[in-house]
Amino acid sequence: MLFQEVFYANNPLLGGLKGVQARIARFTEQVKDFYFRLQLGKHECPKCGGSLAMVGPSQCASSCGNVFDPTLAFQQSTCCRARLVRKTFHYVCSNCNQIVQSRFLFDERIFDAAYFREMVRESRARAKRKREEVRRLLAGSRSDALLLMEEPCLESIPGLADALNSFIGTEMAGGCGYVPKSGFRMGDYRNHILSLLGEGSRLFSDIAPLMADCRRDKIWRFITLIFMAQDREVELIQYGRDILVGRISSEAYL
Ligand SMILES: [Zn+2]
Ligand SMILES: [Zn+2]
Repeated sequence: MLFQEVFYANNPLLGGLKGVQARIARFTEQVKDFYFRLQLGKHECPKCGGSLAMVGPSQCASSCGNVFDPTLAFQQSTCCRARLVRKTFHYVCSNCNQIVQSRFLFDERIFDAAYFREMVRESRARAKRKREEVRRLLAGSRSDALLLMEEPCLESIPGLADALNSFIGTEMAGGCGYVPKSGFRMGDYRNHILSLLGEGSRLFSDIAPLMADCRRDKIWRFITLIFMAQDREVELIQYGRDILVGRISSEAYL
């Protein structure tokens, strides 16, 4: 956002665009408001019979204090005329599991099945190409078989142990091993993420924090995910301004 502001300030031709953008945003809000009034005008609160207003994404409320998801309450699937079930990013028919577009979402996060499938397919194809490329490079540069006649000894290369220690930022005090200075426990984050994901996927922003310090928590969550992606436990896909974290089964990567 800051970059955009500097960019606009230095470009007189683009300076006027900011005003136009603000007007478009206001207009969009008005259209959205009108659209929801129309949609909710056809329905009434199941508890008190009063009128309804949208109060958040997929959430409407009545003056009696009843807050609920209008898609689940008022919409049926077009395929089977069955009730809908809410998944992480979309609604499905409770009978045949087909994805159903909600009438009560405007420009909020709408799950686009075809787009999502394409994203996952592309991401996997890219990862596969990369792995094949690395495999090809490694095969070309492979040295002869290394026969270890004795146990490797770090001290045989002068200064190697010290260099390695300074690289990972630790002192081998009396050989007691690596003690992390921060409280970051990647294992805890990994277990937390895996238990939330199950076999499905979730947005990065939807992964509940493990600690009160939000900023630090975000960084640690992110680092853990990078390592998990390297280990091919999850895949990370850009999803708008968020990251979609998906559990991957090992056969998906063969
Ligand atoms: Zn009510
Ligand atoms: Zn159906």
